[in-house]
Amino acid sequence: MHIQNNVSLLPFNTFHIDALAHHYVEISSLDDLREVVAQKLPQKHEVLVLGGGSNVLLMHNFDGLVLKNNLSGKQVVNETEEHVYVKAASGEVWHEFVLYCIAQNYGGLENLSLIPGSVGASPIQNIGAYGAEIKDTFFELEALHLHTGKTETFALNDCHFGYRESVFKNKLKGQFFITSVTFKLSKNPVFRTDYGQIQSELDRLGVKELSVKAISDAVCNIRRSKLPDPAQIGNAGSFFKNPVIPNEQFVQLKQQYPDISAYPAERGTKIAAGWLIEKAGWKGKTLDGYGVHKNQALVLVNYGGASGEQIYQLSTDIIADIQKTFGIALEREVNKI
Ligand SMILES: Cc1cc2nc3c(=O)[nH]c(=O)nc-3n(C[C@H](O)[C@H](O)[C@H](O)COP(=O)(O)OP(=O)(O)OC[C@H]3O[C@@H](n4cnc5c(N)ncnc54)[C@H](O)[C@@H]3O)c2cc1C
Repeated sequence: MHIQNNVSLLPFNTFHIDALAHHYVEISSLDDLREVVAQKLPQKHEVLVLGGGSNVLLMHNFDGLVLKNNLSGKQVVNETEEHVYVKAASGEVWHEFVLYCIAQNYGGLENLSLIPGSVGASPIQNIGAYGAEIKDTFFELEALHLHTGKTETFALNDCHFGYRESVFKNKLKGQFFITSVTFKLSKNPVFRTDYGQIQSELDRLGVKELSVKAISDAVCNIRRSKLPDPAQIGNAGSFFKNPVIPNEQFVQLKQQYPDISAYPAERGTKIAAGWLIEKAGWKGKTLDGYGVHKNQALVLVNYGGASGEQIYQLSTDIIADIQKTFGIALEREVNKI
């Protein structure tokens, strides 16, 4: 284990914010992690566990200890007639893990193709896309408590998954380093093609026989056409969650805005935050080197050189405007560090 000081986090966050980590250590084995705990570093410093840095907004230099997750490895740990249980180390790259499962014809993760980041961060906000969330295939995870060093296993119900939520973003925030996640994948997958443009993209590709690979290819094509590539433009995907509002409020809004983009949710109606932001005139707005993406109003972008504070202020201005215009409170999805 090698602790470095004043390390630039620029290559380690997809917003391309140039902030320094006061202390920085790469975790390549469980022994590295145990040593960090044995030296009581999490008691001495504020800790930031960093995977792919694709869901963080660094506001300023981080005055604590960054644990960069490089844990690797994956294996089948159990199998039944219908399911296969695959355990992946938390530092594995999410999309590479998805591609591995697809190559084995294991079903369940194909709609979640091409989401940036690590396996270990996937339960933090219960990542979701194209009608799927990881809670649908999640079996269990292992996590090490950063103060006690004890390893705990969390089953599905322990994680309290919700829409872009879990216990790790709330009650247990910052307490654990997730070391592995096990997924329960299907040998006879049920394909989900009814969400967004999946079916039309499958048609365009001329797919006659559905497969996990065909769906993954369709999802990748759609995502590439819609979302800015963080390798080219700094961003963290959707900056805001889609708000859920009471049905009565939706009925009123629908009268005023017949084209409002919305769909039924558990406790009301979910409104497309991108629609609200676009309608309020923010889409494509560019400030000094940062702004709102020109094709996708839900995505805030850094064209180079913006600070986390500037981007955060932009998000605050958008939230205030949406509240004033529609009476709806937007919440941020990205983690402010
Ligand atoms: C272009 C783009 C598209 C995206 N599309 C989607 C999408 O469709 N759906 C979606 O849900 N998300 C999406 N995201 C957001 C992001 O990809 C996910 O949230 C992803 O899971 C973040 O992984 P990460 O490893 O980069 O996490 P990081 O950004 O490194 O960390 C995120 C948070 O999780 C914590 N954390 C990370 N790893 C661990 C660990 N091992 N143990 C404990 N805590 C940990 C961090 O401390 C931090 O608080 C998108 C992002 C981008 C840039």
